[in-house]
Amino acid sequence: MLLRHTPLEVKERSALTINPAKTCQPIGAMYAALGIHGCLPHSHGSQGCCSYHRSTLTRHYKEPVFAATSSFTEGSSVFGGQSNLLQAIETMFSLYNPDVVAVHTTCLSETIGDDMPQIIAKANAEGKVPAGKFVIHCNTPSYIGSHVTGFANMVKGMVKYFSESTGKPGGALNIIPGWVEPSDMREIKRMLTECGVPHIMFPDTSEVLDRPQTGHLEMFPKGGVTIPQLRATGDSIATIALGEYASLPAAEALDAKCHVKFEAMDLPIGLKATDRFMMTVRKFAGIDIPESITAERGRLVDVMIDMHQYLYGKKVALFGDPDQLVALSEFLISLDMIPYYVVTGTPGKRFDARMAEVLGDLAPICKVRQGPNADMFLMHQWIKNAKPDLLIGNTYGKYIARDENLPFVRFGFPIIDRVGHSYFPSVGYSGGLRLLEKILNVLMDKLDRDLPEEKVELQM
Ligand code: SF4
Repeated sequence: MLLRHTPLEVKERSALTINPAKTCQPIGAMYAALGIHGCLPHSHGSQGCCSYHRSTLTRHYKEPVFAATSSFTEGSSVFGGQSNLLQAIETMFSLYNPDVVAVHTTCLSETIGDDMPQIIAKANAEGKVPAGKFVIHCNTPSYIGSHVTGFANMVKGMVKYFSESTGKPGGALNIIPGWVEPSDMREIKRMLTECGVPHIMFPDTSEVLDRPQTGHLEMFPKGGVTIPQLRATGDSIATIALGEYASLPAAEALDAKCHVKFEAMDLPIGLKATDRFMMTVRKFAGIDIPESITAERGRLVDVMIDMHQYLYGKKVALFGDPDQLVALSEFLISLDMIPYYVVTGTPGKRFDARMAEVLGDLAPICKVRQGPNADMFLMHQWIKNAKPDLLIGNTYGKYIARDENLPFVRFGFPIIDRVGHSYFPSVGYSGGLRLLEKILNVLMDKLDRDLPEEKVELQM
């Protein structure tokens, strides 16, 4: 009983977060930056921040994550980090030769008030950035937002620094995939290729954080969106922004800068959201959905129907990132399950409104909370008061699942005690099938384990 001291009585808190259901902004910025080919992320702050960001990503993806730091000392904490960053830019290009250095700020450099555009302009003016190389940045103070907003800020930074409109239509469809796994990005690209749709995905961490073992250490793996591709996003026919929190700011910025129309939609997790995604691709690209994709959809629907009796009416507690929770809730409802408790530490009133739409008639019986007080402690209190049938969330849910004897599906970020998430997708029809299999497995394992002997069935 690791969490035995969690009290039953829920008291409203105004200035205390216990076990937050989110992590820090720069982690998202670093993850997004790794989705640019030849990019070295740079953390403008202390060494400790950078170590934390890198180790969190490495623990989740089980891959080395290279990143540099301005390595603030007492002096830079007082007088600012300009000289550290200028020195770092020079060192990074001379030692590691990246195509791009993507700088994100931290709590410390934001509190000091370092002027990033001015420092980057100075680095360019002083010739510290070699010809054909780039330094980009985004602001990620971690006392606001979460890793999701950090991701969104860095993707918006890509648009700000690279997207260009030449006036000649490029013919590709931009896809901003949101915070999803490398496997999900690969799956979305596969579906688009299957449909014959030329596309530019940015960022793209496939072949970066799910790269194969080759026996050679590559500082810059072959994956990632390239600079010419990023430039060409300004000539694309349209942008599909998947996940409002993670992708909408970049899509809006691209529309404002290059007049590329966009549609922001839910992550394509589950049947309905994937249907909407495919219909939007069809609309923008003017294609017919191929038979192979229709067959994938049919297989998902078939399993949903076949296994309905194990899913119907089951109450689910889920926590994680807002874009994922919205789509996942809709999927659970389409399985006739009930998203009973929904918690995200990423703040934003849009989440409440979108969840109310998704929940519909179920809204009165579901508890939804976002922001600083929506934490794992609250989630555990709710669960102690009225137990759901299933818990879905990242690794940090394992203590609650263990203490309350709940079936637990790992989903989201970070997952640091299992593998598979970066290799097998959760998006699209095939991803929906995998997710459904995982949900069914834990529910049916519990049945097999807990039923009285005379009721155990071989065939289920
Ligand atoms: S919360 Fe702030 S101080 Fe802590 S690791 Fe993140 S950026 Fe650094």
